[in-house]
Amino acid sequence: MTKTGIIVHCSATPPSWMAGQTTAEKVSEIRHWHVKDRGWRDIGYAYLIDRDGTVAKGRDLDGDGNVWEEIGAHTKGKNKANIGICLIGGHGSSENDGFADHFTAEQNKALRDLIRELEEILGPLALHGHNEFAAKACPGFKVSQWYSSNPPRGRMQSQTVQGGALAGVGTCGTVATDMASELQTAAGEVQGLLQYAPSLKWAFVVLTLAGIGLALYRRMGPDWKRGRR
Ligand SMILES: [Zn+2]
Repeated sequence: MTKTGIIVHCSATPPSWMAGQTTAEKVSEIRHWHVKDRGWRDIGYAYLIDRDGTVAKGRDLDGDGNVWEEIGAHTKGKNKANIGICLIGGHGSSENDGFADHFTAEQNKALRDLIRELEEILGPLALHGHNEFAAKACPGFKVSQWYSSNPPRGRMQSQTVQGGALAGVGTCGTVATDMASELQTAAGEVQGLLQYAPSLKWAFVVLTLAGIGLALYRRMGPDWKRGRR
C-alpha cells in the first residue's frame, strides 16, 4: 500500500515521563498499552520521537525494518494511506497550542528530518495532525502551521530534484533501508552514465580531429618538405 501522507500524534505523557530510561524502554511501554491493553497486534505507530530527538521504529510486523510500509493503528479510517509518527510528550495540550509548548527543539528537528527522509523515499507526502481527523487535541499543535513556519530545504529539494536527492550520500540516516539503497544505487548508476556521456563525445571528437590531422600531415608533409629543398 503506497503511503500518501503522514499523521503526527503524541503520547500524551508529561515531559518527565520515564525520564532517565531509554527510548527503547519507552517504546516498549507504549507497545504494552497497545498490545496488552487494546489487543492490537503491535504498537500503533510507525515511528516514535523521544524528548532528546531519538527516532525509534515502531510497528514492524514483517520484521523488514521498512516501518513506513506497515498499516499502523493510529487514526481511524486513515491507517492504510498514512504513516503514524508519535512525539513523546504532549500531556495536557490543546490543539491550538504551539509545538514548543509541549515538545523540545530536538524533537522539532528530528520530526522535520524524518519527514524529509520519508519524502526522499516516497515522494512528497501530505502532512496532518490527528486533530484534523478526530475531536482530539493530539498531537497538541496545528501540524501544517508548525511545518510551514520553517520548512526544511530538503522538502523543496525532494520535490524539484528527486533523483538528485536520492543520489545524495548519507541522507537516509535513521531510515536507511534496502529500498532506499537500491534506489540510491540505481540513481547513482544513471548519473554515472550521464556523467561519462559528454566526455565520451568529446573524446570521439578529439580522436576524429587527430585522425584528420594525421592524414593531412602524411599526405602534405613530404610535398611540403620537398618544396623546401
Ligand atoms: Zn493521536
